[in-house]
Amino acid sequence: GQWWKSLADEHVPVALKTDQPHSARMYDYYLGGKDNFPADREAAEQALSVFPNARIAARQNREFMIRATRYLAGEVGIRQFLDIGTGIPTSPNLHEAAQSIAPDARVVYADNDPIVLTHARALLTGTPAGRTAYIDADLHDTERILDAPELRETLDLSRPVALSLISIFPFIPDTDDPHGILRRLLDALAPGSHLVLTHLSADFDPPAASRLMDTYHRQGIPLQLRSRAEVEGLFAGLDLIDPGVQIVHRWRPDGSAADLTDVQVAGYGGVAVKR
Ligand code: SAH
Repeated sequence: GQWWKSLADEHVPVALKTDQPHSARMYDYYLGGKDNFPADREAAEQALSVFPNARIAARQNREFMIRATRYLAGEVGIRQFLDIGTGIPTSPNLHEAAQSIAPDARVVYADNDPIVLTHARALLTGTPAGRTAYIDADLHDTERILDAPELRETLDLSRPVALSLISIFPFIPDTDDPHGILRRLLDALAPGSHLVLTHLSADFDPPAASRLMDTYHRQGIPLQLRSRAEVEGLFAGLDLIDPGVQIVHRWRPDGSAADLTDVQVAGYGGVAVKR
């Protein structure tokens, strides 16, 4: 709720365009966050009226991110994380999940939304043993992300990295070459690196999903939901880790979401390794 304070404190010269809805602030509203404005809330309420499961889907998507990150920091032993499409800070953030298992974990965040930039400080509160950094960048500009001094100073790309793309690919329509973006990022990462990806899907309630896409498109936000086969296709060339691409609450479940239905959760997630 204190975006103005962050702005004043850090003198960040950004245009928040609070009269237009933004995807990060709409998502924050689904999660019950306070970093949204009337235009975001109005658009999010429209989205909820056609896709009432958006709140559950957003919450379960975050729970997956936390489980996958803990798994990678724990069982797999990954110590470096690159999270693109971070969103407005929501506790626990990815670095908190990773550093709760591995205090020396290093995390680089990237997002292109000015509101997320104004909150970057909340993402930079890692453990003394570890490190976090933030890049204000667009996923389309993979070179800028990979060459950013903040990334190069924080991550050693000759060692494995977990690349997290959590609920960002729905904003990369096919016309923007999602496979090319993924290839450029993965080509820069060492063998043993992992891809963690989630994606809201139209498979579970196609009419509601199509109305949801219309709602975003009317606000000028590109939104493309993908089928299970399309989400699996994003992992092409990598080895999916057991249990493969699953509806997010069914991926290595911890029992907390046992009563939820697939229609409610509505999104796929998976983790794969680059050999
Ligand atoms: N990963 C978080 C937030 C998901 S909301 C989570 O799953 O909880 C999607 C986020 O992706 C928003 O913060 C939005 O600003 C960001 N985003 C959308 N398109 C982007 C792009 N082209 N480049 C960078 N970030 C983008």
